[in-house]
Formats: sequence, structure tokens, C-alpha cells
Amino acid sequence: VFVCFEGGEGSGKSTQSRLLRDALTAAGCTVRLTFEPGDTAVGRELRRIVLSPETGVLDDRCEALLYAADKAEHVATLVRPALERGEVVVTDRYVDSTLAYQGAGRSLDPAELEEVARWATGDLRPHLTVVLDLEPAAGFTRFEERDRIEGESLEFHERVREAFLAMAKHDPDHYLVLDARLPVEEIHDAVRARLEPLLAQ
Ligand code: C5P
Repeated sequence: VFVCFEGGEGSGKSTQSRLLRDALTAAGCTVRLTFEPGDTAVGRELRRIVLSPETGVLDDRCEALLYAADKAEHVATLVRPALERGEVVVTDRYVDSTLAYQGAGRSLDPAELEEVARWATGDLRPHLTVVLDLEPAAGFTRFEERDRIEGESLEFHERVREAFLAMAKHDPDHYLVLDARLPVEEIHDAVRARLEPLLAQ
């Protein structure tokens, strides 16, 4: 089973993905917790290039291709092998982050980006994507790396948020949208409840 957490900055993706990993591990599953960008050796380099302030402003297409390269390596070397071993994979960000940040945020063509992402991942799609929805202004106050995200306008992050919500609305069978301001345990319980039938299969 492949589960993905998506959402803006400071929405609690890492907290929730860790909680889920711990709970499913305690329930007897083998769980691989992972993230994008940067959870492979080459991915760490790509993350450094894309996110370090020294890089400066990258061309939008160059940035999108670096994220796609991270994704290809991530899926080929980590996600797919774990799924093939029958493990549960929980990822903090995936294709939807690309569609939201590089698509809605940077204004690249979402259909083209989707094609690149599908190619990079061999069209591997999550069984469930949990969107932790939060007003960007609220997320900023919770986020430590303020310098970096303040590089983007509030409008950029509003577009990112709307893109996540639109994707979820379009495909409710594969999405769960939760208000990120709810108590951590409440969010976790809702994710567990939604996952139960998937894990029982
Ligand atoms: O989730 P995490 O904080 O590790 O993500 C790092 C940053 O990378 C995010 O703040 C987001 O701005 C950016 N990002 C992006 N496009 C992606 C994935 C992440 O712009 N596809």
C-alpha cells in the first residue's frame, strides 16, 4: 500500500507521516517512511541544488526537471522495491507537490508536468493521498525555514493550496482532505480510519 501526505509548508506532513509509520509498525506492518525531495543519495544532491539559497533563481523548467529526476530515483530505488516486498510506503510529498508547486505555483503547464511526472515514476500512483489543508499564512508561522519560503509570495502559496484542493476534489476516491489545524491525534485517527479497508485487502 502506497500512502502519500501532501500539503503546504508547516501543515504537519512530517509529524503525521511519522505517527502513521509508528502506528502501522506497532500494528505489525513493515513500513517504509520516505520523502521528496531528497531521500536518496542523488536526491540529497538535487535537493541541495534546488533548495539552497546559493543556487539563486532557477529556470522553471530546469527546476521541474530536477524535481522529476529526484522522483525517478526515489521511485525506482526506494518506493517501488519496497512496495514489491509487500511493505507499506508512506511518503511525505510526491507527484502532487510537483503539480502544485511547479504547476500552479510557477505556472508551468500542468498537463505537461503531469506527463513528465508519470514518465519519471513509471506512472506509480498512491492508493491514498492525504492533503493536510492549511491557510498559507498560518503555515508560515509554524515553519522554521522562514527565509526560504518567504522567497515566494503569499499568492504563490495560495495557488499551491488551491491546486492540492482541486486535485482532491477531482478524485475523491484517492484523496482525504483534512484541516491541518485539527489536533494532531484527530488527524492521525482520521487517516487510520480511511486506511483500514486498504490495509485489510
Ligand atoms: O516538504 P519539505 O519542506 O521537505 O519541502 C521542501 C520544499 O521544497 C517545500 O517548501 C517546497 O517549497 C519545495 N518543493 C517544491 N516542489 C516540489 C516539492 C517541494 O517546490 N515538487
